[in-house]
Amino acid sequence: METVLNDVPWSAEPYSIKRHGVQITNCDSEPVQTPGCIQAHGVLVAFRLADLAIQQVSENVGRLLGIEADDLLGKPLTALVGDAGARRLQTFLTSEPTDRNPLYYQTQALGTANAPFHLIVHLNEGVGLLELEPSAPDDAGPDFYGLVKKSIVRLQGVTSVQEFCQVACDEVRQLTGLDRVMAYYFHEDGSGEVIAEARREDLHPWLGLHYPAHDIPQPAREIFKRIWIRPLPDASGDVAEMVPLANPDTGRGLDMTYCGLRGASVMYTEYLRNMGVGASLTLSMRYSGRLWGLIAGHHVTATPFPWQVRAACELLAQTVSLQLAYVEERQHERYRARMQAAHLTALASVAPNGDLSKLTQASPTLLDGIQSCGAAVYQHDKWSTVGDVPGPSELAELAAWLRPLLSATVGESQPLYATDRLSAVHPAAAGYADVASGLLAIPLSRTARHLILWFRPAVAQTVSWAGNPSDAPTVLGPHGPRLTPRASFALWQESVTARSLPWTTAEREAALYLRTLVMDLVVSRAEELGALNSELASSNEELDAFAYVASHDLKEPLRGIHRHAALLKKEIQAGRALDAQALERLEAVTRLAVRMDGLLDALLHFSRVGRLELQPQMEDLNEVLAESIEMLGPQPAEAHCSIRVPRPLPNVLGDRVRIREIFTNLIGNAIKYNDKAERWVEIGYIDPQDTTSLLLASDTPAVRNQTIYYVRDNGIGIAVKHRAQVFGIFKRLHPRDAFGGGTGAGLTIARRLVERHGGLLWLTSALGEGSTFFFTLAASEEAG
Ligand code: ADP
Repeated sequence: METVLNDVPWSAEPYSIKRHGVQITNCDSEPVQTPGCIQAHGVLVAFRLADLAIQQVSENVGRLLGIEADDLLGKPLTALVGDAGARRLQTFLTSEPTDRNPLYYQTQALGTANAPFHLIVHLNEGVGLLELEPSAPDDAGPDFYGLVKKSIVRLQGVTSVQEFCQVACDEVRQLTGLDRVMAYYFHEDGSGEVIAEARREDLHPWLGLHYPAHDIPQPAREIFKRIWIRPLPDASGDVAEMVPLANPDTGRGLDMTYCGLRGASVMYTEYLRNMGVGASLTLSMRYSGRLWGLIAGHHVTATPFPWQVRAACELLAQTVSLQLAYVEERQHERYRARMQAAHLTALASVAPNGDLSKLTQASPTLLDGIQSCGAAVYQHDKWSTVGDVPGPSELAELAAWLRPLLSATVGESQPLYATDRLSAVHPAAAGYADVASGLLAIPLSRTARHLILWFRPAVAQTVSWAGNPSDAPTVLGPHGPRLTPRASFALWQESVTARSLPWTTAEREAALYLRTLVMDLVVSRAEELGALNSELASSNEELDAFAYVASHDLKEPLRGIHRHAALLKKEIQAGRALDAQALERLEAVTRLAVRMDGLLDALLHFSRVGRLELQPQMEDLNEVLAESIEMLGPQPAEAHCSIRVPRPLPNVLGDRVRIREIFTNLIGNAIKYNDKAERWVEIGYIDPQDTTSLLLASDTPAVRNQTIYYVRDNGIGIAVKHRAQVFGIFKRLHPRDAFGGGTGAGLTIARRLVERHGGLLWLTSALGEGSTFFFTLAASEEAG
């Protein structure tokens, strides 16, 4: 059903404060826009814009102007302001932005009144509203423009919301001379709080007082979203009803939203009178369509608010609102930044071992981030806490209740739980409402087993009424004994028992962000552990395989030693003299022991290659090659093997000693495994760009933009099926002593050395014709 604010439900005629005011039982339905009455210190005339015909006039017109309403109704405005006045008004209306914006346009003598009147006019949906206010000799007052300008400069200089409101109160007080000016802030739940105050010395402070939401009823709040100031120069003043009450064109009460003279609600005037307030002037503070708060000025006695003061205050209210958005945003920004900095720093202490209890121990703790009185973290089956928190069993019980709620949020856009009235949703929490009326919780795992919780105390405990004890309610208003600040505060306190300050959007976001960071940390640690595990696993596998092969090969000479030694023992026991055969056996034992020694050396060397720190430098490969050939000693000459280097080798970044070893191994093999009469070994390289080199076979591994070095021979070659095997530890393709013997570790080590440089070692070969071993010395670049 449509709510018609314009008319009270039980009355066919439009609403009038005078007639219906006392019957109001629900102030949230009071039609404050159409009160039917004005404040009786002025006169309101409603006229039709089309023909300037007077449609309604306040009943006090006779008393103030000496012209009766009946002599004006239905007449053109000229009947009131004269021909010239009407012409000027018409021009003014067409040239000035008067739509829903009352503007002063002239001061003029009217009727039989002694003092001239200020004429203020505006339009509202085709209806003209002309407000007439008697002038006073000292109306002009001080230089309001200068004052406002100064105020604006002061307002621009502050950065905190609190300070900003204080300056605003100071400035409004200076501009108006009011006894008390307060800044009310509206909390998210609609309740109000006095956050700044400028007052006469002898008045007791109301700073810090809270009021329940209904102290400023919804219709009044709505109006404050549209007007900048609300003057009430005499809270005990009379009201004058509009005649007729209904506008003849619309059949409804006159919309006075923008009228300075608009009659005040009975509730409001009663409230003011109970507070000992004679006059009030209220400025609205708003932005983004939201009523942020009010600046409320009170004066102990009635006091006029001339249009100049009102215009100055209006300008100030607009400036305050504009500036407020900026100041509040900055303050939020700073709070956000502070929360984030605290969380990031706190997490840094967690990072090394993922121990979240650090968030409650090392400074900064969780309490330095989101405003709270205590925080708790549950990880590894235990709680760690900081500040005021419920007891251990209470925490356990709370977590048990919370987990299903939290785990339901995992995967949602906001995986968190927040309440500012915990005991209302979880009665078991009533016992510790003093520390945990507010709860903000984030799950750290899908089942919400691991948690972070923040707590806030009941708000009523954080504020107290420090006012004069004699501020007792004096009047039993329609809502009971509530119409004084003290009673109101008590009522508010009652309404917020076991409630905390609400968790703001920024705070929720900070909690969510912390959660992301923690999860990242946990996940990356898990990944790290996973990687470590798989690394370990693969190196274990390698080790297994390696140990198998190594032990197998190492056992071979050991078995020989054992066999020969056992036979020798037997022969000696049989009383045989040490003959030539026995000597042979002893020689075999020695030889096998030497071989075993060689294998163990190779094994040790191989294991060191895996661990050694490379010392890469730019090296001239020609020098390195020369050194390695030198290390081969007489071997090439004895084998009648020529060593060819078709073109000088380039410089290379690598570990000189290790590259030398690679060459020694490969060249040594090339000389060894050769049965040709004319043996040769060729050492060379293929340029990175040269992809068509005939040396490269189709199964060349994917090395891009790499110099490929090679050692080529015209030896016995290696069968395709053996190409992988030759790199296995202790793997030889020949009888132990054929081709000069060897341990079978050389290629394994060479490959490992190449790999330590980031490179690859591979071979091509044609059996009986020769082999080519290729290698690179750096990681292959990605295709570009
Ligand atoms: P070792 O030379 O001590 O036996 P390596 O690991 O250097 O051990 O070589 C392993 C095996 O690979 C050798 O026993 C040999 O059978 C084969 N091999 C190595 N280099 C060549 C080569 N240039 N031509 C033919 N066979 C080779």
